[in-house]
Amino acid sequence: MTPIMENYLQNKEKLLNTPVQYLKGIGEKRAQALEKIGINTFSDMIQYYPRRYLDRSNITPIKNLKVDEQATVVGKVQTCGIKKGARQRFILLLTDETGFLSCVWFHQVQYWQKRFKPGQLLAVSGKVGYFGGKQIIHPDFDLLSEESEDLTDDFLHTGAIIPIYSSTESLSLVGLDSRGFRRIIKNLIKNHTDSFEETLPQSIVSRNKILPFPIALKNIHFPENFQMMQQAQQRLKFEELFLLQFMLALRKQKIHQQQSGIVFSDVGDRTKLLAKELPFELTEAQKKVLKEIRSDMKSTQPMYRLIQGDVGSGKTIVALVTMLIAIENGYQATLMAPTEILAEQHFLTFRGLLADMDVNIQLLVGAQKKSIRDSVTGQIESGECNIVIGTHAIIQQNIKFQNLGLVVIDEQHRFGVSQRAELFEKGENPDVLVMTATPIPRTLSLTVYGDLDVSIIDELPSGRKPVITTWRYSNKRPDIYKFVKSKVDEGSQVYIVFPLIEESAKLDLQAATESYDKIREGIFANNKIALLHGRMKSEEKEAVMDSFKKNETQILVSTTVIEVGVDVPNATIMLIENAERFGLTQLHQLRGRVGRGSEQSYCILIGKYPLTEEALTRLNTMAKTTDGFKIAEVDLELRGPGEFFGTKQHGLPELKIANPLKDSSLLIQARNEAFRVVESAQQKNEIIEMVERNSFFQNYKDKIEMMQIG
Ligand code: ADP
Ligand code: MG
Repeated sequence: MTPIMENYLQNKEKLLNTPVQYLKGIGEKRAQALEKIGINTFSDMIQYYPRRYLDRSNITPIKNLKVDEQATVVGKVQTCGIKKGARQRFILLLTDETGFLSCVWFHQVQYWQKRFKPGQLLAVSGKVGYFGGKQIIHPDFDLLSEESEDLTDDFLHTGAIIPIYSSTESLSLVGLDSRGFRRIIKNLIKNHTDSFEETLPQSIVSRNKILPFPIALKNIHFPENFQMMQQAQQRLKFEELFLLQFMLALRKQKIHQQQSGIVFSDVGDRTKLLAKELPFELTEAQKKVLKEIRSDMKSTQPMYRLIQGDVGSGKTIVALVTMLIAIENGYQATLMAPTEILAEQHFLTFRGLLADMDVNIQLLVGAQKKSIRDSVTGQIESGECNIVIGTHAIIQQNIKFQNLGLVVIDEQHRFGVSQRAELFEKGENPDVLVMTATPIPRTLSLTVYGDLDVSIIDELPSGRKPVITTWRYSNKRPDIYKFVKSKVDEGSQVYIVFPLIEESAKLDLQAATESYDKIREGIFANNKIALLHGRMKSEEKEAVMDSFKKNETQILVSTTVIEVGVDVPNATIMLIENAERFGLTQLHQLRGRVGRGSEQSYCILIGKYPLTEEALTRLNTMAKTTDGFKIAEVDLELRGPGEFFGTKQHGLPELKIANPLKDSSLLIQARNEAFRVVESAQQKNEIIEMVERNSFFQNYKDKIEMMQIG
């Protein structure tokens, strides 16, 4: 590259990184408002894509206007002026030689008076009404210059396909409504066209038949026609999905290229012994997944695998076998769970199953006594401890492993990429197994788990009966309690769950506690009841769970702390209060706490009248199906992929325009391209370089770095 060229490039780059305040039409106030929605630079501004479009490209002769229809008219101002009366207004009479159209403004009449003069050429858009003649109230308009040959340059709010931008109240206050955005972005494009250059290698552009970047940018904001608008969208979506997949491909390649993974060659005696001691036979699906894990573990590449399996499919035992193999080969293993209750439960289950084997297993959670904690930390560091089960307390800095060979993360959707990476860093290229119960459509899993190998447990242990699920309004509570009471007296155990969310934690906790008191006094007065919530001390929580596990407590009144992972097979009734406040995934997880044995289980959802339409959909969906996959699909529809599976939470850049669900074929295309490109060192570096110097890809830069380490 010549020095001149390089300089030129640098300037372009500088221009796009210029603070938005220096953009024509933006002062301090607007800049501040824009900052609040994440627009800081020219490049951010240009990537503020329209939410939708209005078709004002057809110009209608006035005589053909139809009342109540949206239309665009081009004509000359015949007369205009303020009309006094009951309601003062500014009226402008427009003519196009086929008729007259009056345009009316009720506010700021003095301003409009100054703005318009007879003889001006004007395009107006809006809904046509009739009041002694055809009229449009508060039309959108563009002043057109008569000299210009081609009118398209003048059309901003009318006469074309018009972009509509999202705006907020505080944006509108400083004039940043759709009109404001249009004006600013149009200027930006017009004045700085030269700064927009192709962002992807030419070979990718031609192979995938996508529009060149500068053309796509123009057409996403001000499309020449609908076809161009669609092509522009395709191009920008492709680019976004391509970059995302490119990063995942980089990461996957990095992992697969490492030949320095641990080779776990032996399945030792203890692993075989465990298989014998299990009170059940593994399902075919569990066996298949274990085989896949075995082959990963034997290989010189570190394992990096996700197990996806619906609630109750038996992921825990797969994790335990995997951990045993690791320690049989002389390494330490660790499992991280999102809640203390779950960590504790895994700890107890594992300790029980490993009782006859010579395995040192320890629990590490936040709220332990210092003396216990110090002892555990010491044993982890010395290597005495073989298996550590814990919460994110494990990733704290002072925890050092002697030789960590395997990392397992349970309910991984509760953790972000960075926590996964931190745990990974505790060993030297340890094998990684992550588990999740959230079933998601394939295209979405290619987005958020695109760097992992995926195993699916697609079968529940035999003899499970689907949980019978119903929902009722709260006025039916007495009947429901009677039913529950009869079941409890037959020996069933019950969860009664109350919502508790961060924002209203105090009130929620109070509500749960009060209900607990009422439940103890009502028809359950002679049953054994306990209360469980997150604010309790560790030992208290332990004691409550323990007595529920041993069937010494019959009814467990709880907040959502039991949502994930908890396993008490004798519990067969899940009663959820204020069910309308839970999301679908949450409800499904909660329901997964029952139906874990061979007894018929029940899930009863109590909703508060009146329910919103969305809440109704959720409760009806729960009643209709127990299939986690179907539930996830409805959930996705209700919440949209951003909310459902925050890419942000996964440490990936937010998608601005693509939707991995709706754009699935484009996603596959982008993924194939990305995985093809990383195969060639030259192309790979070319893209990394392009991302690094391109200010449009600001958010990808540090991510790319992250993907290439750890
Ligand atoms: P999840 O996949 O939701 O984590 P768990 O691992 O907690 O499910 O398993 C759910 C229940 O099923 C547990 O009580 C477990 O002991 C039991 N279980 C696991 N595998 C089998 C099997 N193959 N046959 C019968 N029961 C099983
Ligand atoms: Mg589990």
